Amino acid sequence: MTKISNSETLALHAGWRADPATGAVQPPIYQTTSFQFQNADHASRLFALEELGPIYTRIGNPTNDVLEQRLAALEGGAAALVLASGQAASAFAIQNLARAGDNIVSSTDLYGGTWNLFANTLKDQGIEVRFVDPQDPEAFARATDERTRAYYAETLPNPKLQVFPIAEVAAIGRKLGIPLIVDNTAAPLLARPFDHGAAIVVYSTTKYIGGHGSSIGGAIIDGGNFDWEAAAARQPALNTPDPSYHGAVWVEATRALGPVAYIIKARTTLLRDLGAALSPFNAFLTLQGIETLPLRIERHSSNAQKVAEFLSRHPEVTKVIYPGLQTGTARARADAVLKGGYGGLVGFELAGGRDAGRRFIDALTLHYHVANIGDARSLAIHPASTTHSQLSAEDQRKTGVTEGYVRLSVGIEHIDDILADLERGLEAAQSFKAAAE
Ligand code: PLP
Repeated sequence: MTKISNSETLALHAGWRADPATGAVQPPIYQTTSFQFQNADHASRLFALEELGPIYTRIGNPTNDVLEQRLAALEGGAAALVLASGQAASAFAIQNLARAGDNIVSSTDLYGGTWNLFANTLKDQGIEVRFVDPQDPEAFARATDERTRAYYAETLPNPKLQVFPIAEVAAIGRKLGIPLIVDNTAAPLLARPFDHGAAIVVYSTTKYIGGHGSSIGGAIIDGGNFDWEAAAARQPALNTPDPSYHGAVWVEATRALGPVAYIIKARTTLLRDLGAALSPFNAFLTLQGIETLPLRIERHSSNAQKVAEFLSRHPEVTKVIYPGLQTGTARARADAVLKGGYGGLVGFELAGGRDAGRRFIDALTLHYHVANIGDARSLAIHPASTTHSQLSAEDQRKTGVTEGYVRLSVGIEHIDDILADLERGLEAAQSFKAAAE
């Protein structure tokens, strides 16, 4: 195939043409645990990383490999590793560089599961996560010391939906030998973090990438754009002998394979040892989803823009949070990073507070009431009474969740049907408020 760089085409073609054995157009689901070696020499070449190929499905599988190639191509990266969930991707992305006694600096604006992983589980493992305000890029530099191994942020974190200043923080990190890891789950294709200097991208493929609410999955993509050797003192995990792989120094052991030391280490040590492997069946379903990702993300964005505008005109709504309606620095940052749309997530606040939020949700008949985002269907949730209900009112406010806050993941249905359902919810919220007055 001639070299192609358009997302619409890569989403259908990257990493696969047809099955060499049967001509099958769809990548087969290689539902097997292990792969027979051609001979003893072939087996030892695979184990010595002199040749890459499938050995055992915990470490790699040909269906997963197609997904990995497709994700790397779409993101403009060197190589990818797919995993059992987005959580596994975030954890591995950091554990691949930081050991007990090390630290990373992270934006405070994170998905709650990532927050827990960082504040509790990584802490228990001896990796300290220093949280800083994402709107102040210099805060990353101030929190850095000689044991800082990575910076971490989400491109478009909800509920605040303020785009992270990727270029500014990546540049600060690069001067210090520190890679920026970006969770791009909420903005695939719209944001291309590698173009702004990020070194590693992680995804929950559970969301927009899979797109149909069928499979949990995650991915790490290596930009191949970070000079680990030049930062040898800062990055010992890739530059000193690794006892877990017969003393391999990852930058040297992988030199013949391209700029893929980071991702090969993640596969051959963390995935091997911790085993968060994606099932090939889920890889297949995720590939099905990716085929239409460029079309879906366009429609998610255009529908969400219309929803945000509709809500901002509605008397029951006191505030709408959507990058396409922001002004000032927030809008400038959104426009610097997001191309072709502002994504499918919309937040808004109801005048009637918590009870109005609950009434609104219960009156919806089209939107699904679920703790998820990025499905082709429209989804809604009232965080104060669900996902954030364990937090104190004060902590809820800090995370950007108020009593009347509702989060929408706008789907790809006809916009008239989405707006009619929202109108139904708003009427219920309004009649509740009127009765209470
Ligand atoms: N990152 C973000 C931004 C998410 O929204 C989520 C899940 O909601 C995750 C990571 C975790 O992904 P998963 O649920 O696939 O483990």
